[in-house]
Amino acid sequence: MFSKRIVKCVFIWGLSAVTSFTYAQESRYSFEKGMMGSPFKLVFYAKNDSVANIAAQSAFKRIEKLNELLSDYRDGSEINMLSAQSGSGKWVPVSDDLFNILAISQDISVKTDGAFDATLGPVVQMWRHATRKGIFPKESEIKEAMSKTGYTKMKLDPKSKKVFLSQKGMRLDIGGLGKGFAAEEAVKVLQTFGIKSIMMDAGGKIVLTSPPPGTEGWNITISNGSDSLKTMALSNVSLATSGPTYRFMEYNGTRYSHIVDPKTGIGLLFHVRTTVISPDGTVADALATAFSVAGIVKSKKIIARFPASKVWLVEKQDERVAEWNTLE
Ligand code: AMP
Ligand code: MG
Repeated sequence: MFSKRIVKCVFIWGLSAVTSFTYAQESRYSFEKGMMGSPFKLVFYAKNDSVANIAAQSAFKRIEKLNELLSDYRDGSEINMLSAQSGSGKWVPVSDDLFNILAISQDISVKTDGAFDATLGPVVQMWRHATRKGIFPKESEIKEAMSKTGYTKMKLDPKSKKVFLSQKGMRLDIGGLGKGFAAEEAVKVLQTFGIKSIMMDAGGKIVLTSPPPGTEGWNITISNGSDSLKTMALSNVSLATSGPTYRFMEYNGTRYSHIVDPKTGIGLLFHVRTTVISPDGTVADALATAFSVAGIVKSKKIIARFPASKVWLVEKQDERVAEWNTLE
């Protein structure tokens, strides 16, 4: 039987602020809000409540705006309207935000030999539907959905900010890097308010700026997906985790990840968890997904193209666990 477990999130509608302590005229503030299907948590140091509240409101507003443009769950989103024009032969003008995220995505696709692929929408949709219905898709359905994918079918023109999708029925899905992008953008908004020490956790995709006042860094605990934990004091970096801990489906006792192998069109089987640390949150998010697909052996080659990134990748096959860890 099929079964599906989805992320259990605590959605806190509206913002709640907690001031925990004051350090040299700056206080610690934390805010939480359910966004993009995950809890988004914001911690930063600011001079007073009014700056903190307006800054947090503005940051969350920016994420709302991005979600309106980039969500594949909304019929009228800019990304879905772009996908609807695939195969029309038209170069479609898009917003700076959509263009920027697609440009990063395309760059990562090239550098990961296609392990990361934002054109997997038709396949991701097929699996969502199959999971809801409890029916494993037929081979012909997988083949049909796969025929409408492929990052080389998406062309970008940086000068005119236009996008060309060469085949009818294509569907873009930026779920593999959207939260990292949103976290980066939210941090930029906070910085316009003069806020320097920030931790933005967008559903496990985290962007960190300067350490909390008087400390060496933000204490971040990372797990390998089972028992092994690591706590590190980090600053001015981003980290992202991918794994089927909550989002997966089971068929005939086999667990398939929500991350799809672009070569087969099927959810990953052996992946446990991947954490990536990179200078940029969007890249960290995309790489956590890409390394999950590529697996340990191929990722060791791919990481040479990302010299500033580190990874902790865990795979499990027949109860045998393999790990690759460059975090320290
Ligand atoms: P993440 O949690 O960042 O690994 O993102 C997972 C999401 O990325 C999935 O729910 C899909 O929307 C999308 N996705 C699945 N497989 C891939 C892939 N191979 N490349 C890019 N995005 C993917
Ligand atoms: Mg990702």
